[in-house]
Amino acid sequence: MTKYIFITGGVVSSLGKGIAAASLGLILKSRGLKVVNQKFDPYLNIDPGTMNPYQHGEVFVTDDGAETDLDLGHYERFTDESLSQSSNTTAGRVYLSILNKEREGGFHGGTVQVIPNVTDEIRRRMLLSAQETGANVIITEIGGTVGDIESLPFIEAIRQIKYEVGVENCAYIHLTLLPYMKKAQELKSKPTQHSVKELQGLGIQPDIIMLRSEVPIDAATREKLALFCNVETDSIIQNLNAKSIYEVPLMMEKEGLGKAVCKALSIEDTPTHLEDWAQMVDRLYHPAKSVTIALVGKYVELRDAYLSVVESLLHGGIFSNAEVNIDWIDAETLCDEKTAAERLGQADGIIVPGGFGDRGIEGMIRAAQYARTHNVPYFGICLGMQIQVIEFARHVLGLKDANSTEMNKDTPAPVIDLMPDQNGVILGGTLRLGKYECALKAGSTAAAAYKAETIWERHRHRYEFNNAYRAQFEHSTLRLTGVNPERNLIEIVEQEGHPWMVGVQFHPEFKSRPNRPQPLFREFIKVAAAYAESAGTAAAGKGGASDSAERYRKGGTK
Ligand code: GLN
Repeated sequence: MTKYIFITGGVVSSLGKGIAAASLGLILKSRGLKVVNQKFDPYLNIDPGTMNPYQHGEVFVTDDGAETDLDLGHYERFTDESLSQSSNTTAGRVYLSILNKEREGGFHGGTVQVIPNVTDEIRRRMLLSAQETGANVIITEIGGTVGDIESLPFIEAIRQIKYEVGVENCAYIHLTLLPYMKKAQELKSKPTQHSVKELQGLGIQPDIIMLRSEVPIDAATREKLALFCNVETDSIIQNLNAKSIYEVPLMMEKEGLGKAVCKALSIEDTPTHLEDWAQMVDRLYHPAKSVTIALVGKYVELRDAYLSVVESLLHGGIFSNAEVNIDWIDAETLCDEKTAAERLGQADGIIVPGGFGDRGIEGMIRAAQYARTHNVPYFGICLGMQIQVIEFARHVLGLKDANSTEMNKDTPAPVIDLMPDQNGVILGGTLRLGKYECALKAGSTAAAAYKAETIWERHRHRYEFNNAYRAQFEHSTLRLTGVNPERNLIEIVEQEGHPWMVGVQFHPEFKSRPNRPQPLFREFIKVAAAYAESAGTAAAGKGGASDSAERYRKGGTK
């Protein structure tokens, strides 16, 4: 029998509901249960795919090519389960399917209403993951805050589900804020009381209340909350600020979250196995060195836009025992070669992540050029790979105005272009999305990192390396080392004679885990850490850098 947990938020948004849900997933998985997390968002967009990164942060892509909310990234990183389209549903998607059915006569002339039609469709979708995966526990996070008008049908749906799946198979967790009034030196429980009352008014009695708090919650406050919110004192779980999100599951387990959930769902509370996770956090908290990575992008004011990339860099750091400092660089500020050199001079590695549109492109090209000519480790992801190709075409192959047709439709050298079968249909639905196979060239940097001949990585882009230029590149020092066999598309490029300059058309950041870094991120940080060491040694005038480190400092690719 599948058990269902629903997590709602109260008082304010941005409480870290996604991290709480992901942490609970890990806590239960570590008890030997098969857990699947999912998110239901009350907004009307069909999915976040077309939303501005400034509003919504990163779009997380699953194996099956769903463009989803960034919380799914947390779920995958914490629980190490691959999620799918059914793991993220929006109100827009629910309404779309109902309205399509209505147009097709699927309701046989009946009146179509929020209750029961919308709530039925929400419930149907909430139970899908269990059928698809056979999970023991499904954790569903409801986006937004209780009291929002738009989330009402979702709250009503989760109220009804309890009676559909059996009361003993369903638990509600409400996450709220417990503000601390410095002047009075007091934790204030009133907002939580009101939020719980609101939830009760909608027919839901939470089983567990999780409280974000800046200071530890004293016994008196716990008892007060328990009394006024109708829960047991053991089910009042404090959620203090953590130094790293990866410590949250350990803190939550210590607080008794797993125990309280097992009790609420009548699951036997078996011992947890979080030792590896704890070791990973310990490594994260005790780095032996540090490395600075320049992240050159166009959405740098909102760091959530690059969430998975940043996490993957940290994962590489955990592996190499290195603290990763990110130098956020707005690509537009790299306005000429001199500025680029000044701004990038301190970097031990340069990463150009994915992006759309032409803003900042020339700055990114300068960053790639600097990395290539100064032997600074470079990692290009999706757009960053296309940038690497354009830079090389312009400055090494002599194709002066080389570009992507995304940036300049009339470029005389479209080294990045749409595929012939895509021409004319560039709006909506034409992205290459999800998992694709890639064959690695023997002896390449990528093959060495993956220790494999064939890999599968996730994609989200529209433009491709233009095979019309393939012969020209094949006779150059930019090696084409990864190919999609099905459609003969170039997926990986590597700069020969450079310590580490790799560009990938896919998004490796979606598959990295804190205790299992994605191979390319792992190697990138390893090489950047060696570069940092050699740079440090050079700066201190001590000499004696290791052979490999020394190599990074010498010469550039002509
Ligand atoms: N804008 C580029 C394309 O559509 C790259 C996309 C990306 O970096 N995700 O191909």
